[in-house]
Amino acid sequence: VTVDKKAKSRAMAQIRTKDTAPELAVRKLLWHQGFRYRLHVRSLPGTPDIVLASARVAVFVNGCFWHRHPSCRRASIPKTRPQFWLKKFDANVRRDRRANSALKKFGWSVVVIWECEVRDSAVLMARLSPLIEGHRRRVNASFAAIKLGNPKAD
Ligand SMILES: [Zn+2]
Repeated sequence: VTVDKKAKSRAMAQIRTKDTAPELAVRKLLWHQGFRYRLHVRSLPGTPDIVLASARVAVFVNGCFWHRHPSCRRASIPKTRPQFWLKKFDANVRRDRRANSALKKFGWSVVVIWECEVRDSAVLMARLSPLIEGHRRRVNASFAAIKLGNPKAD
C-alpha cells in the first residue's frame, strides 16, 4: 500500500478522528496522574480531544500528517495531486489556528500534543509536565476546589 492510498482512505474518515491510539495514550497518562477530564467537547472551538475543565486546559492530540507537524517526517506530501493535498492541509492548519485563538480568547490554555511525541514516553512526559505540575499545585492548594465532573475511565 502506498502512502497516497493510505492517505486517501484516511481522507474518507473525519479529519479529527476520535479515540486514536496516540489520544488514548495521552488520556491514560493523564488519568494515572490524577486528572479527570471530558472528551471531545463539541461546545468548545475545535472540539478539543481532552478537556480539563477546572484548569481550563484544552488538549489536542494531533496527527502529524493531517495537522502538519512542522519539520516532522510524518508530515509528508503525497506525490500525486499535490495541489489537492496542499489545499486540504492549508484548510486544516487554518481551522486549527482559528480554534486555538478562539479558545485563548475565552481564557483557555491550549496544549497540542503531536502523534510522534506520544511514541516516546520521555518526550510525552516532558510535554505534559507543566500540566501535571500545575495540577499538583492546585490539588495541594485546595482539594475541595477540584471538580471531578463525570469521569469516564478508558
Ligand atoms: Zn510529528
